[in-house]
Amino acid sequence: MRLLVVEDDRDLNRQVVAALEGAGYAVDRAYDGEEGWFLGDTEPYDAIVLDIGLPKRDGVSVLTAWRKSGRATPVLILTARDRWSDKVEGFDAGADDYVAKPFHMEELLARLRALLRRASGHASSEISVGPVRLDARAGRVTVNEVAVKLTSHEYRLLSYLMHHVGRIVSRSELVEHLYDQDFDRDSNTIEVFVGRLRRKLGVDFIQTARGLGYIIEGDADARAKAAR
Ligand code: CA
Repeated sequence: MRLLVVEDDRDLNRQVVAALEGAGYAVDRAYDGEEGWFLGDTEPYDAIVLDIGLPKRDGVSVLTAWRKSGRATPVLILTARDRWSDKVEGFDAGADDYVAKPFHMEELLARLRALLRRASGHASSEISVGPVRLDARAGRVTVNEVAVKLTSHEYRLLSYLMHHVGRIVSRSELVEHLYDQDFDRDSNTIEVFVGRLRRKLGVDFIQTARGLGYIIEGDADARAKAAR
């Protein structure tokens, strides 16, 4: 999963980015409304953290512009504690959730996890497919209840495919959602990560859709969990 953080307070921006990276996401950052709007308009983020009080262009105007041009990316806004009008304007502009400053990083992480799983149609932060279970809250993966150690890139790849279970995901889509913009992107590395995941999770778990990409086929268990 790849996220964008738009926040002009450099300390806060750094703290949020560090917490998100620590939780296994690829993260891009912007420090003003113009830069933030441009990135959100051109890059395929899975969710965006958007401060309302921004230089050059305020958060509400940025969000309004994204929604007007059809960007449906889940957006969590950061508001000042005493500005209830920010929240109203933010929701009216198309925000999906908010946290008021100052906030606990754990709350921001929990709200983002909820946005991400709702966007992919999952009701719980645990996704199970066959013997594999991914716990997005703990960042843990088990196969038949046995913990499996994954690198951060392997985890991101698996998490993205499991959040989109039953759908073919192309290699270029994976590259766009797994790496931040500063990363030297090479779609051949995706194949390497898939190979490693197959060794760790079972050869059939991630299937190749020839010429199209990769898919984790859903099963009855996963569908029941998602519907619950
Ligand atoms: Ca600000």
